[in-house]
Amino acid sequence: MPHRSGYLKSLDSCVVLVAEDDPLCREIIVQSLSPLYTVVEATSGEEALAALNKVKPDLALLDIMMGGVSGIDVCKSLQESEDESLRNIGVIFVTSLDNGDQEETCWNAGASDFIVKPIRISTLLHRVKAHLTIKCQSDALRNLAYIDSLTGLHNRRYFFEQVSIHRRQQLRDGSKSVIILLDIDHFKQYNDTYGHIAGDDMLKRVATHISSSVRRPRDLVARYGGEEFIVLLSDTDTNGAKQVAQNILATTDTPKHSSAENAQPLSTISIGIVECTSRATLNDHELIECADKALYAAKAAGRARACFYNDGETRELTYEI
Ligand code: GH3
Ligand code: MG
Ligand code: MG
Ligand code: MG
Repeated sequence: MPHRSGYLKSLDSCVVLVAEDDPLCREIIVQSLSPLYTVVEATSGEEALAALNKVKPDLALLDIMMGGVSGIDVCKSLQESEDESLRNIGVIFVTSLDNGDQEETCWNAGASDFIVKPIRISTLLHRVKAHLTIKCQSDALRNLAYIDSLTGLHNRRYFFEQVSIHRRQQLRDGSKSVIILLDIDHFKQYNDTYGHIAGDDMLKRVATHISSSVRRPRDLVARYGGEEFIVLLSDTDTNGAKQVAQNILATTDTPKHSSAENAQPLSTISIGIVECTSRATLNDHELIECADKALYAAKAAGRARACFYNDGETRELTYEI
């Protein structure tokens, strides 16, 4: 789940990766930065890649020449990553080379800046601080723009942006995907009975429940509005969507899933599903409209169930799972 808060995090909570194969140079950098930030060390490009994926630091200081995987390769692989949080990591190259061509290669690989060896500690500290400040500010802005502050899920704006990118990609590679629209049943009544704060708590718990039912890293869960959630399952066909919907439905009305001792059981949820690939001519809003029709059918059929949208034979044929 994405970061819940839109607030600026403090610099001293930042994590910096230092990848350098020269032990002395690495020691100088690590000793200078350690009193201020959490520092993770890597002695090769391979170690740097592993640490970046595992720790997702705020900034990476990369030596260019490390034997094996170079700093430039590491930087390129960050830029080309499907994981947005990896693409957003700033990279400062640490270099002794006074070579214009190589610098150009570094910029093209996605470098944010350079630090020249022999390292001047004051310059190192100022550059790192400047880039961490930019990173924290842009993270906070991104959170404000794209994260729902109540549930910590992505919001509707982010969802539409990602769906649009995803569908363009899908046209190129022919992969399948599915959109699932979910709506809490009788939520107005829940609010009226238990109060708005308990209602908010339920929304958070449903958000956690849906997120944990959707396990692949590329799948996207967002709060669509009030008590509605939406999921994009990439590389998934209707069978996969059926499984996810069943996982969500199987546990939503069971008291044992309550997190707090005296909490109410999770409300039931109704679900509408649309398969995207075969509807390439529809725009994104029309596609979600189809999911909404299926959701309406699930409500009409008695709630706490899922319906697929099917526009094959009749105008609006849906069927229950
Ligand atoms: P249905 O089963 O047909 O979906 O009925 P419903 O009561 O869930 O649907 P309705 O659209 O009538 O009511 C939605 C309710 O969701 C009303 C509103 O108070 C509540 N709601 C929307 N956003 C929030 C929120 O952020 N917090 C809380 N606590 N309630 C919210
Ligand atoms: Mg080196
Ligand atoms: Mg609703
Ligand atoms: Mg509802």
